[in-house]
Amino acid sequence: MSYIKGLKCKECNREYKKEPIYVCEYCFGPLEVVYDYEKIKKVLSKEVILSRGKNLWRYKELLPIDGEPVCGLNSGFTPLYEAKNLAKFLGVKELYIKDDSCNHPTLSFKDRVVAVALSKAKEFGFDTVACASTGNLANAVAAHSRYANFECYVFIPYDLEASKVISSAIYGVNVVAIEGSYDDVNRLCAEIASKYKWAFVNVNLRPYYSEGSKTYGFEIVEQLGWQAPKHIVVPAASGSLLTKIYKGIKEFCELGLIKSFDTKFYVAQADGCSPIATAFKENTDIIKPVKPNTIAKSIAIGNPADGVYALDVVKKTGGFAEVATDKEIIEAIKLLADKEGIFTETAGGVTLAVAKKLIEKKIIPKDETIVICITGNGLKTKECVSDVVKRTITIKPSISAFEKLVLSQIRRT
Ligand SMILES: *Cc1c(COP(=O)(O)O)cnc(C)c1O
Ligand SMILES: [Zn+2]
Repeated sequence: MSYIKGLKCKECNREYKKEPIYVCEYCFGPLEVVYDYEKIKKVLSKEVILSRGKNLWRYKELLPIDGEPVCGLNSGFTPLYEAKNLAKFLGVKELYIKDDSCNHPTLSFKDRVVAVALSKAKEFGFDTVACASTGNLANAVAAHSRYANFECYVFIPYDLEASKVISSAIYGVNVVAIEGSYDDVNRLCAEIASKYKWAFVNVNLRPYYSEGSKTYGFEIVEQLGWQAPKHIVVPAASGSLLTKIYKGIKEFCELGLIKSFDTKFYVAQADGCSPIATAFKENTDIIKPVKPNTIAKSIAIGNPADGVYALDVVKKTGGFAEVATDKEIIEAIKLLADKEGIFTETAGGVTLAVAKKLIEKKIIPKDETIVICITGNGLKTKECVSDVVKRTITIKPSISAFEKLVLSQIRRT
């Protein structure tokens, strides 16, 4: 059963058949999946969604596959919870964390997009999958490729965190490190994709892949009791996640699953790589590519593919854009750990640091629902905080050593 009408150019609206293509032949605009909402309306209700498994496929008709999924059967449906300690600290009334740091199986929101992309790759008949990645995507493609039985190549910048490299290599796939930035990796992958019949999840399968991000937004709405938040702070690399959360909420409206929404979108970027936030601040629609220099490597994309669309969502919803320095990122990682017991990676640090700034500047009001998007796990970027965590006290296994070296210290502080 197919609910997809086809693909459509986001710029000139030309229509295309559902094939592994991603740019418009006429204007080079990106292609997007178009659904038959009338048909979906007849089968997808709250009751149907609620009756299904707690994973991202519970919204299957709004995802671009025709058959059954081949992986990600336990991905998605991560917790959304009220962060009461953090809310108190920030002086706000209602604050929620959508926590993809515990997504299955590779601990970031990329498990969502890859589940959809590999299921589509199977339908298209590919036997090799690949990606251009800042780390988390490579981890997810590598892991899901084992379960779904694909050959696999992942391409990453050479200077990624050790944990992100090992968390791809452990699956025995081909990890290729490129001497350059993510934007160099991406350029090379576009070239390889045009020459080899591989499914590059975020290149030739990008229209399908990116739809997986909508499930992050669907879940927030469902978990808030079928209502959209007033404010949502989203980290942006390519800008796709932010754009697709918006699309997802709009679709829920279209299907009558919610009556209306009035959500303001805030984009969070690192100070060392902020092409979207900079365009917002300079009040221009042109995204100027930058050379990334930040510890938030997972969102270090200097030339964001969906930058203009993310910027558009931020502007038309009445949101805002803000950046966080490396120092602020680390402080925010520690703050989230301290207040909520959650260890997020650098991208999560960016999001919380930006949310905190926007609340302090009164751009986000204190008395309305706020959702903060935590998209990755701190175990993958340990080196950024290893020097700033509380010192471990090492002692001999005796009670006197414990009292002398541990308790006495605690009493002193
Ligand atoms: C990829 C990624 C993002 C954002 O991705 P977009 O390209 O903007 O969709 C955010 N957080 C983490 C941890 C990521 O890995
Ligand atoms: Zn076009």
